[in-house]
Amino acid sequence: MPLIKASCPSCGDVELTLSELRVLVCSTDGTASYNFRCPSCTFRVSKSAEKAVVDILLSSGVSMSFWRMPQELEEVHDGSPISYDELMDFHYQLAGDDLFERLTGTGTGTSKED
Ligand SMILES: [Zn+2]
Repeated sequence: MPLIKASCPSCGDVELTLSELRVLVCSTDGTASYNFRCPSCTFRVSKSAEKAVVDILLSSGVSMSFWRMPQELEEVHDGSPISYDELMDFHYQLAGDDLFERLTGTGTGTSKED
């Protein structure tokens, strides 16, 4: 089985089988990377890859996956940022025992904060 040499930031050069590598291509901007789990330290390593490297990896039989940036990045946001007090209010609402009833309108209409 062919081996591909890659570099782990902690361990240095390591050898990987084709199935241990994966090419990831961002369909939003076309950037590519490859990743693998280091066989020595088991940390996941991800590195950006130029088109020439991607072509070599793919022609060698490495699998490829596509991903896209979240569409929320393209949303226009206006208004002020959420405040600490608003965040705490939200936290207490989520922590309440009757969250589901308040959201669905099936409860008594009272909560701990009322
Ligand atoms: Zn390593």
